[in-house]
Amino acid sequence: MLDINKIRTDFPILSQKVNGKPLVYFDNGATSQKPQVVIDAISKYYQEINANIHRGVHTLSQLATDAYENSRGKLQNHINAKFAHEVLFTSGTTHGINLVANGFASILKPGDEVLVSALEHHSNIVPWQMLCEKTGATLRVIPMNEDGELIMSEYDTLLSDKTKIVTVNHISNALGTVNPIKYMIDKAHEVGAAVFIDGAQAVPHLKPDVQELDCDFYAFSGHKMCGPTGTGILYGKEAWLNKLPPYQGGGEMIKEVTFEKTTYAELPHKFEAGTPNIAGGIVLGTAVDYMNEVGFENIQQQELELLEYGTQRLLEIKGLKIFGTAAAKTSVISFNIEGIHPYDIGTIIDKLGIAVRTGHHCAQPVMNFFCIPGTIRASFAFYNTKEEIDVMVEAIKKAQLMLS
Ligand code: PMP
Repeated sequence: MLDINKIRTDFPILSQKVNGKPLVYFDNGATSQKPQVVIDAISKYYQEINANIHRGVHTLSQLATDAYENSRGKLQNHINAKFAHEVLFTSGTTHGINLVANGFASILKPGDEVLVSALEHHSNIVPWQMLCEKTGATLRVIPMNEDGELIMSEYDTLLSDKTKIVTVNHISNALGTVNPIKYMIDKAHEVGAAVFIDGAQAVPHLKPDVQELDCDFYAFSGHKMCGPTGTGILYGKEAWLNKLPPYQGGGEMIKEVTFEKTTYAELPHKFEAGTPNIAGGIVLGTAVDYMNEVGFENIQQQELELLEYGTQRLLEIKGLKIFGTAAAKTSVISFNIEGIHPYDIGTIIDKLGIAVRTGHHCAQPVMNFFCIPGTIRASFAFYNTKEEIDVMVEAIKKAQLMLS
């Protein structure tokens, strides 16, 4: 069992007031808050070892390089990748998706198919659409049902020898659905398709095992898992990363450059052109250490309690409807109140110190499916409490009274 009050003292922002009220932060799906160890590690890097990496012979450059590569090793262990060079530092999930989608332009031909799911964030739709426009491949969509679950029988029939890559999120940001990715990966492999997993919403809640999943790619962002913004990881199987062309050209990613021809560096450097976010990459390792210290079993237990309690309390509100009622769900509640625009609720409860997300959550196709402009999304983290849920429920009731 977590001592939540103690955990909360790790996060300085949680004791702040917003609009004169104690902050209730339920926008964890957008970005998580940062513990003091992470905040301190950023200053420590700049105070003590700031230097460019992989090039200098001087001591600071070596210290910074060691810290950066040590962090890569931590991330490798965290997701159980076979090799450290399969773990690429990126600026976030979006970067990882674009890197792979861009690489597939050298593989796809007209008539090939890319499967995406109906539950995706725009960043796992648009790069694949761009890829299809560029190559003449066709984008096909795995549909979902009213509970916000992907329909596996439809998935099975969509798969064929034309399918070259399947891309799906591990957990949906808009509804919280946990997708059956192991099943989807195995099925895709039966037809010879690669599988890209968007793990942005999964890594704050669980520890993915990329070897057990056997996915070809797995991308996530550091900022959603207690790490700094502008950081992320793209895992790719060695064979795939060797096959794909580089995404960006520049320093660091070359073996030899002449005006006639350039040869590329080995993995992971082939995909890491230019000076990276050195501080961010190092501190992402600190964030992962922090989350492992809290423990993912503890995180899941606390978040499940919050999900169950939050669902039950919110359903007390007259006219409230929850979107996303899948059996497998993480601590996200997306809802609307009859006759009231989500934005109006969000604005009023913000005045009471409560941060929730309102709108389409960068998942317009999900909103279109339900024929709604958007939802109010409360997304809980392990440092949230039932008392905070009570505060939100009372605030929503007040807002409802004002608006109706
Ligand atoms: N995919 C999903 C499921 C997400 O929730 C997000 C962030 N909201 C992204 C991709 C994009 O992540 P980032 O903006 O950190 O690149």
